[in-house]
Amino acid sequence: MKEAIVSIKKIEKATHNVLRFTLDKPDEVDFITGQAAEIAVDKDGWRDEAHPFTFTSLPFEDHLEFTIKIYPDHEGVTNELSKLDVGDSLIIKSIFGAINYEGKGTFIAGGAGVTPFISILRNLDEKGELSGNRLIFANSKEKDIINREEFESMLGDDFLNILSQEDVESCAHGRIDTDYLKENITSKDDWFYVCGPEAMMDAVIDALENLGVKKDRIIKEDL
Ligand SMILES: Cc1cc2nc3c(=O)[nH]c(=O)nc-3n(C[C@H](O)[C@H](O)[C@H](O)COP(=O)(O)OP(=O)(O)OC[C@H]3O[C@@H](n4cnc5c(N)ncnc54)[C@H](O)[C@@H]3O)c2cc1C
Repeated sequence: MKEAIVSIKKIEKATHNVLRFTLDKPDEVDFITGQAAEIAVDKDGWRDEAHPFTFTSLPFEDHLEFTIKIYPDHEGVTNELSKLDVGDSLIIKSIFGAINYEGKGTFIAGGAGVTPFISILRNLDEKGELSGNRLIFANSKEKDIINREEFESMLGDDFLNILSQEDVESCAHGRIDTDYLKENITSKDDWFYVCGPEAMMDAVIDALENLGVKKDRIIKEDL
């Protein structure tokens, strides 16, 4: 696709360090749920610094949405994104495949790794096909949980949280390991979608394989 310059319509806080950007949707921006785009800030000095971010809106909606974790201590793209206002623009340089939905299963996300699952789960919900899917979401603290209310309302008891650095009643405490998964997966023959930081993904995939999940049932993307 040709580069598209898209204007920011709304910026909201999704958590203390995650921003939700709503943008215009030009016709040439065509994607499927789970895909990501190479994005740059349309400002002098930043136009060649394209980084990958996942579409969290649905393909047929009249706007685009990105849900982006900001690293403020580091003078990178996300810090620059955090300085933008409504009316500023981003450049969408290319669109590429990330995670594809293959069928009902367990989605396992760490932090901003939940972004491809936002649009996939919203899309299934929209089509009335969400039942039978489960989301396990690992974060450090409760304040880091992205889109908590939306996931609770979409998935009910099939939305499970685990926190590594905080012990609260509504979430499990610790890291995702074999014991945790043994208790919380419904079938080892499900599809498993795993997305998050590399170390978390390696640990989760090891644990799934320990439980007898076949490699070809695990769909992964490190983010
Ligand atoms: C396919 C794909 C899709 C993605 N989708 C999303 C998404 O939808 N939302 C999202 O939030 N992220 C997403 N990411 C991750 C995102 O691309 C990166 O977080 C982003 O590019 C970081 O850009 P940056 O310039 O701010 O930081 P970079 O310069 O690229 O550095 C980021 C890394 O540096 C570390 N860091 C932080 N501070 C410092 C410091 N002071 N010195 C050195 N290192 C530091 C951070 O831990 C972080 O891991 C995706 C990644 C991929 C591969």
